[in-house]
Amino acid sequence: MAEKDNGKINVGVDLGTSNLLIYIEGRGVVFKEPSIIAIDKATQKVVAVGNDAAELVGKVHDKVEVIKPLSGGVISDIEMIREILEFTFDKLLPGGVQSIHKLLLCMPSEITATEKEALIKLGNELGVQRTKIEEEIKASAIGGGINIYTPCGNLVIDIGGGTTNIGVISLGDVVLSKSTKVAGDFFDKQIMHHLKEKHKLEIGLQTAEKIKVKLASLVGDLPCDEEENVLTYNAMGRDLISGLPRMAVVGAKEIRKIMLECFESIKSTLISTLEIMPPELSGDLVDNGITITGGGALIKGVKEYFEEIVKVNVKIASSPINAVVDGTKSLLKIEKEHYYGDY
Ligand code: ADP
Ligand code: MG
Repeated sequence: MAEKDNGKINVGVDLGTSNLLIYIEGRGVVFKEPSIIAIDKATQKVVAVGNDAAELVGKVHDKVEVIKPLSGGVISDIEMIREILEFTFDKLLPGGVQSIHKLLLCMPSEITATEKEALIKLGNELGVQRTKIEEEIKASAIGGGINIYTPCGNLVIDIGGGTTNIGVISLGDVVLSKSTKVAGDFFDKQIMHHLKEKHKLEIGLQTAEKIKVKLASLVGDLPCDEEENVLTYNAMGRDLISGLPRMAVVGAKEIRKIMLECFESIKSTLISTLEIMPPELSGDLVDNGITITGGGALIKGVKEYFEEIVKVNVKIASSPINAVVDGTKSLLKIEKEHYYGDY
């Protein structure tokens, strides 16, 4: 049963660099859209949030500004976080933000104490009774199907948009975590760069992302269609020399090369994490394996790629993009005794 206090509700939020997901106790995951906000520069009024704002990327006139408030995995703009949350809560909750009893905000492990305080203050100012900040890597481990409350080492790799986070979790908490900016947005930029260099074609980031989603792979057979033809993507953009619109056919093989180059950096971050992991917890990975979450978990061959490096089982979360928000479900329920009790 949903935990309620005076008819108020509990809410879990994954404000990722790419996607904003909101869980409302008793209702489930009610929002899953890009974490993008469009505002009118003159009035500072919100024009659109989520899918509606994403449609405006690269296409607005200079009166409207489109912002990704968490770009790069840091809280670049707290005011925009306020706007994005207020706007979506007002849309999702009949009683608005004031009807929230507990708000669990999942954030990158790297956020500073000052940023944490600013977020809690933001919750108070919005009228929420209790705001709790939780490390997203912990929530993603739970959402990825790990029982984190055992005295047993678990390793999670969350490949998101702005950052790839690697966390070691034991006995309900994060023992250590590392992060690199080599993640989905970086892959898109590298693809964009490749098209410029090799195809002499300038493309937008959204096109680069579409190429990635369709063609990206790391090991094993290249992605094919039903007739076993290696997949290609017809990318539209602007010819670098003539300046005219043009199409280039991009193949899965060239994209694999780019992805492998990008993943070298994720591999180094993983190895440096394993190197500093307490040996007992490290040994636990032989049985527990490694879990992959985040949108990057959907890249073809990611499981085999990491299995080859670490030589332990790798599991892809059943719903990788939802892992963090799914984790908030359990955190709101289970951790009542752990931390909400002593507020
Ligand atoms: P964040 O937590 O930073 O918001 P997500 O975990 O939601 O990020 O993942 C978003 C990233 O995953 C984006 O860069 C997106 O392009 C990428 N992504 C989503 N689906 C796929 C896919 N099928 N293949 C490769 N990348 C994907
Ligand atoms: Mg995330």
